[in-house]
Amino acid sequence: MNLQKPLIRQIAADKAGEPFTVDRSSFRERIALVAAAAAAEAEDVDRAARFPQKAIEAARAQKLLGVQIPREFGGEGASIFEVADMCYALGRACSSTGMIFAMHQTKVACLVRHGVGSAYHEALMRRVASEQMLLASSTTEGQNGGNIRFSAAAVERSGAEISLVRNATVISYGAEADGIVSIARRANDAAGSDQVLLAMTRDQYTLERSLEWETLGMRGTCSAGFELKFTGSSAQIFPEGYDRIHAQTMTPVAHLCWSSVWAGIAAASVERAQAFIRKAARGAGGQMPPGAAHFNAAKMTLSKLRAVITANLDHYAAHEHDERALSSLDFQSAINLLKVEASELAVETVMSAMRACGLAGYRNDGEFSVGRLLRDVLSSPIMINNERILSNIASATLMSAVPATLRD
Ligand SMILES: Cc1cc2nc3c(=O)[nH]c(=O)nc-3n(C[C@H](O)[C@H](O)[C@H](O)COP(=O)(O)OP(=O)(O)OC[C@H]3O[C@@H](n4cnc5c(N)ncnc54)[C@H](O)[C@@H]3O)c2cc1C
Repeated sequence: MNLQKPLIRQIAADKAGEPFTVDRSSFRERIALVAAAAAAEAEDVDRAARFPQKAIEAARAQKLLGVQIPREFGGEGASIFEVADMCYALGRACSSTGMIFAMHQTKVACLVRHGVGSAYHEALMRRVASEQMLLASSTTEGQNGGNIRFSAAAVERSGAEISLVRNATVISYGAEADGIVSIARRANDAAGSDQVLLAMTRDQYTLERSLEWETLGMRGTCSAGFELKFTGSSAQIFPEGYDRIHAQTMTPVAHLCWSSVWAGIAAASVERAQAFIRKAARGAGGQMPPGAAHFNAAKMTLSKLRAVITANLDHYAAHEHDERALSSLDFQSAINLLKVEASELAVETVMSAMRACGLAGYRNDGEFSVGRLLRDVLSSPIMINNERILSNIASATLMSAVPATLRD
């Protein structure tokens, strides 16, 4: 595989001042290279709970951190389908790398969809594309858990200068990121639900570690807790209120990208179970081992998982510039249910794969071990707890109509 080919073509076109049409076929080649780097260090990343440095460097070398940014701002205008496929490919290779990429792309999506027209955010888009900056996310605060639509810390204003001090319970790869996109209460006298989104770069904040990250899985996301102290300009606040950004971009893109990562983890477990069953069948002269039924169960839930993600991708892509459709009860319930369904199906798939492999899957060593994948995927129902989501959308799901046809 030739790593550099697509990039060289792009650089040559830029130099010649020719319009460059994005070669979308290169995305697959480029993400495969990043996935190979991620897979090579996945075991060690998990064992040491360390940041997947080589994988993220490979993503930078392949210019994939800015891939979603429109060409006019220096990116390649990748679609949500393409970004989700990249998340899937990375999830198969290393869950933590996949999740870091997914979280970064969600922040970039906020810039792309809500930053155009704002000089600060347009300039930041250009920097993400040219410098391949990695953006982290700060939504969880204090004891507030996954209640993202409520902020305690408020933006303090002094003329055009603003500041924020936030008890950020979890910021994945906070220490390694080049910037953070954070929610905050609009002002000291604003209600907790009156929130803004702001983008900040590393030179503008300090992070003091308040909680370590010694966890069961997703260890390479390095999701420690920090006290975040930021000083910057009011121009860094996104022009639109967070309520709209949350409904139109943050939730849909996060749920689509996270689900794609979890599907990748599930696919990796199915691959291991398949290899195990094949080997066992060969060893028994073609006789299927008893675990084959669990392998089929894993294949079935993986198919459901892929179907639910692709249906939601189609739905989102069809309405991504239609604010009314995105704010509708139907869309909001569907995109929230996606997260719940995808996480449950991913866990079920990995569990079935482990049972298919039996002891060989339960072991932490050996080619059929499913342990790391199971530990990683168990983060999915709690990453914004499914119970919280289900109780939040209970009234909306009651009000949305039952579909009259299969394709409604
Ligand atoms: C791998 C990983 C990476 C993360 N990265 C980041 C990051 O980069 N930035 C960031 O800001 N956050 C991050 N988070 C945090 C995440 O976004 C959620 O805030 C967090 O997982 C919720 O934590 P919690 O379970 O303590 O809180 P809660 O949501 O408060 O849940 C606590 C318990 O209460 C239950 N519960 C909550 N609400 C209800 C309800 N209405 N009905 C019934 N039961 C309910 C839950 O099921 C759970 O059992 C990350 C989390 C994970 C797992």
